[in-house]
Amino acid sequence: KAKESGKDRYLVYDARMREGVVNVLAVENDLKRALRAHEFEAHFQPIVNLSDGQLYGFEALARWNHPQRGLVSPGEFIPVAEETGLIVELGAHILEYACTTLSQWRSRYPGAGNLVMAVNISAKQFGEAKLVTSVKDILARSGLPPGLLKLEITETVVMLDAMESSVRLNLLKSLGVKLSVDDFGTGYSSMSYLQKFPVDQLKIDLSFVRLMEKGPENIEIIRAIVNMAHSLRLRVVAEGIETERQRDLLYSLQCDYGQGYLYSKPLPRDEAEAFLVMAE
Ligand code: C2E
Ligand code: MG
Ligand code: MG
Ligand code: MG
Repeated sequence: KAKESGKDRYLVYDARMREGVVNVLAVENDLKRALRAHEFEAHFQPIVNLSDGQLYGFEALARWNHPQRGLVSPGEFIPVAEETGLIVELGAHILEYACTTLSQWRSRYPGAGNLVMAVNISAKQFGEAKLVTSVKDILARSGLPPGLLKLEITETVVMLDAMESSVRLNLLKSLGVKLSVDDFGTGYSSMSYLQKFPVDQLKIDLSFVRLMEKGPENIEIIRAIVNMAHSLRLRVVAEGIETERQRDLLYSLQCDYGQGYLYSKPLPRDEAEAFLVMAE
């Protein structure tokens, strides 16, 4: 059955590709130009401790400052960057931007000492053997203590090749960085692998947070995820919190951290600094 739906998905994708092939080429060329022109940066979304509302850290989210199109969101360029392999260079740039930013904040704001920086790693980036040395070099250049960097890797990517992932995750772990499973619950996951991988955190996808108020069974799913995570000594972050009710529910389910528009949208570097002035 999985095979069938996989094939269907491929066919749909293929049809879209043919229509969009000119567009993909255009975007690819534009991406190459933009990388040389340094048009990519990250915006930063606060992550807070649900128990006391204190700032815990930020997630760096890629943004393209396009000269004609304005600010372009990652949904429009990450897939093309991934397809063309440009994600490796782009990802390294975002990682360095994020690590350097937190490193600078730490030297300027006394309250920034323990904040963490979460950075997304795509499938192709994760598949590159060079990733480990790239992360190591960026940490060294930025001066960020490795334990303050959290790499977010989606469940689906981790599950693609469990053996290979296990090796890669252990190498990353040996650098001292933290690992987070992003979009947890949306892909195919095997709970048994979760305890074999050296991950520190699960990130509950916003689709679950959205469903929470639509029925008690959805609350039970989150409760089960949180309980399982805690019994494996993992921390849990919920993304996409938009209402106080969602926050209160997640707190009552003992979810550790939260992120969402209720607190803040992702902000450009200078605007995100307002949160540091307030941090203790
Ligand atoms: P993600 O890592 O799951 O990031 C969370 C997304 O949810 C972000 O979208 C964020 O802006 C959005 N979000 C956060 N809180 C709320 C909320 O309360 N309501 C709603 N509606 N949305 C919220 P964004 O920035 O558009 O990024 C989308 C995806 O693109 C990310 O999902 C991630 O998979 C990918 N991405 C972003 N930056 C990077 C990057 O530097 N490298 C890689 N490889 N992927 C990236
Ligand atoms: Mg993420
Ligand atoms: Mg996520
Ligand atoms: Mg998500």
